[in-house]
Amino acid sequence: MSKLSAYNNKRNFNKTKEPMGKKSKKAKRLRFCIQHHIARKDHYDLRLEWNGVLISWAVPKGPSYNPKDKRLAIKVEDHPIDYRNFEGTIPKGEYGGGTVMLWDKGYWEPIKGYKPNFKEGPIKFILKGSRLKGMWTLVKLKNNDTSWLLIKDKDEYHLYDDINEFNTSIKTNRTMDEIKDNIKHIEITNPDKIIYKKPKVTKVDIINYYKAVSKRMLPLMENRLISTIRYPSGSKGSSFFKKHFENLHKFLGLKRIKSKKEHQNDYYYIKDINGLISEVQMNSYEFHVWGCLASDVSHADMLVFDLDPDELLSLKRLRKGVKDLKSILDEYELSSFLKTSGGKGYHVVVPLNAKVTWKNARLIAKNIAELMEARWPNKYTSNMKKSKRKGKIFIDWVRNTKGATSVAPYSLRIRKKLTVSMPISWNELDKIKPDEITMEEAIKRLKRKDPWQKFNN
Ligand code: ATP
Ligand code: MN
Repeated sequence: MSKLSAYNNKRNFNKTKEPMGKKSKKAKRLRFCIQHHIARKDHYDLRLEWNGVLISWAVPKGPSYNPKDKRLAIKVEDHPIDYRNFEGTIPKGEYGGGTVMLWDKGYWEPIKGYKPNFKEGPIKFILKGSRLKGMWTLVKLKNNDTSWLLIKDKDEYHLYDDINEFNTSIKTNRTMDEIKDNIKHIEITNPDKIIYKKPKVTKVDIINYYKAVSKRMLPLMENRLISTIRYPSGSKGSSFFKKHFENLHKFLGLKRIKSKKEHQNDYYYIKDINGLISEVQMNSYEFHVWGCLASDVSHADMLVFDLDPDELLSLKRLRKGVKDLKSILDEYELSSFLKTSGGKGYHVVVPLNAKVTWKNARLIAKNIAELMEARWPNKYTSNMKKSKRKGKIFIDWVRNTKGATSVAPYSLRIRKKLTVSMPISWNELDKIKPDEITMEEAIKRLKRKDPWQKFNN
């Protein structure tokens, strides 16, 4: 068994950008590194090169220059030598998911006369890093497989520095937050491309909008199949609905769905902010979501009701329609969430906690729309035909079908003005018009409490 098989087995290299574990050749000098790693727990990883791998310890409190501090160091699996340069994020849900900062690196030497014992300890050594210097000792605790102590020896370097002062990367100078927010390496082409002339909105404004809302938007969109609307030449140019996966950028998730005649279609989903921003880079400005997750496309996990008013209907009547729908959902104890469509109407979204087949999801939505129609026949119709809509509101339940989409919360709408399909609280229904929240207004509203905070639980 190779020394790095534990390292390799724990990781999915399709998902993490950490280096694959390969044993390296012996170098002339022994290298070491320390990575600050904020994962489930905040800790520092000390790694010493030995026989072609990095022998590694996780030090919860980090090293200390004070010889009185005995810092617990938990032995972990050997890492490949290439790991000494790794800095970045490890995806949520993956092993070690979180943020890694390269905190120190350099060379190390065993102290002459003390042959390092990596099995039983002690290891007495000198660090020649940019932050850690001088003599150190690692001793193994008795009767314990993995617990060691990391102690600074007294020498000219003891009490040399307070390590808490070092909160940036020695590789890139970034703080943890900056590493986390970095969208690693997506080149934005044509940032100044004009998307709207008046008021002027450029492509980079749209990129910045999606970055700003990503914390709220992604939990509602990630791992969900999507389609986007692409506008390669601004809001006035032609657009197309992009439904299928294309293998052009590495940030999207692929979901292959078999349809009837032995046929299959490739759909896609966004896994994180990189996927979101790289889509915008490719001129996808509107995001539309399926009502299910990519991990289970045969069950709906939400219902969407779209209220489409006849053109002549007052806003007051439309709002009453939303309230009537809510009252029915309340009767059935279905919690519901409200957003503007960014266009002519409002959308009411009902998260489903139980597994509901698409057939049943459609039936539930249909029943609710028909119930509204039966209770208030002159106000609402569940019939899609425009001719049946005169003076009424169409309660669009039809989009609760496998493969149908609705605009994602926080998605921009490329309409006459640049609006947002904005999550709002129920008591804002009477105050906010369907197309009232513009891109700029949406960014300002992020300071407020999240009106959909309870959506995902
Ligand atoms: P409004 O309030 O103005 O009615 P809306 O979001 O409710 O806005 P539309 O923008 O008309 O309604 O979109 C209708 C539905 O069709 C949406 O659910 C959208 O996901 C979907 N859709 C939009 N464009 C396409 C397309 N080219 N192909 C397939 N579906 C589309
Ligand atoms: Mn609509």
